[in-house]
Amino acid sequence: MRIDVISIFPDYLAPLELSLLGKARQEGLVDVQIHNLRDFAFDRHKTVDDTPYGGGAGMVMKAEPWGLALDRVLAQSPVLQSSAGADQPQDDAAAASARAEGEKPLLIVPSPAGTVFNQQLAYELAQEEHIAFAPARYEGIDERVLDWSEESFRVMPVSIGDYVLYGGEVAVMVMLEAIIRLIPGAMGNPESLAEESHTGGLLEYPVYTKPAQWRGREVPEILLSGNHGAIARWRRDEQIKRTFSRRYDMIASASDEMWDKKDRKL
Ligand code: SAM
Repeated sequence: MRIDVISIFPDYLAPLELSLLGKARQEGLVDVQIHNLRDFAFDRHKTVDDTPYGGGAGMVMKAEPWGLALDRVLAQSPVLQSSAGADQPQDDAAAASARAEGEKPLLIVPSPAGTVFNQQLAYELAQEEHIAFAPARYEGIDERVLDWSEESFRVMPVSIGDYVLYGGEVAVMVMLEAIIRLIPGAMGNPESLAEESHTGGLLEYPVYTKPAQWRGREVPEILLSGNHGAIARWRRDEQIKRTFSRRYDMIASASDEMWDKKDRKL
């Protein structure tokens, strides 16, 4: 998978070098390229923002540097390289606009006004060949950049929750952590994905490790029993109880198929 991030604060993305994310990059599971938006601003001060038309508070990110940065991302897109024929240059705007939607890379624009990110969307995004992220600052990006981008990208404004951050870089980090760990080979133990929260409609059960007693608290006896069937049942029951008390909205919207007969006796 190829990922591009365009930002005026590339250092915000430095943790991508660390831990399992860094390992996924080193092992070639994901190719992450960070672009500094200011490299595409050519005045003396490398200006990337200006006052809003119509007045009002704050500044708006200028279209010109975003356009040039996105041109660079398009020129390097593996999706366009694989779909462009020998007689179809990739930088031909008319050819780009004629491309079928499925042949366009995805452009995610972090925004508190976007579709709310969740685990289901993370699974879908982990299947993409090329995702570009356009995290903004100030009041956001000149809207014409999004309109223009539709010619060559599938554009998706995405929010990480109902609150407002200073800028979109942290939102990109959140999405990348959730997406990259779902790429086959990116998890130390892929079985960890099977029962975790937000996969299968329930939150995860409580977990314990050694020692068996700690500050007067004991590990539930069943977990020491070696009875795998009973442990699986206990964990499932705990998942249901926890989801019921913490996220009743998930229980309320669960489909009938999610439950088995023993669940109903709880
Ligand atoms: N004026 C904008 C609004 O009310 O929708 C908020 C701008 S915010 C200060 C600057 C940038 O931070 C946004 O353009 C977006 O890139 C990012 N951002 C802020 N909150 C976010 C959230 N909940 N999810 C994703 N991105 C967010």
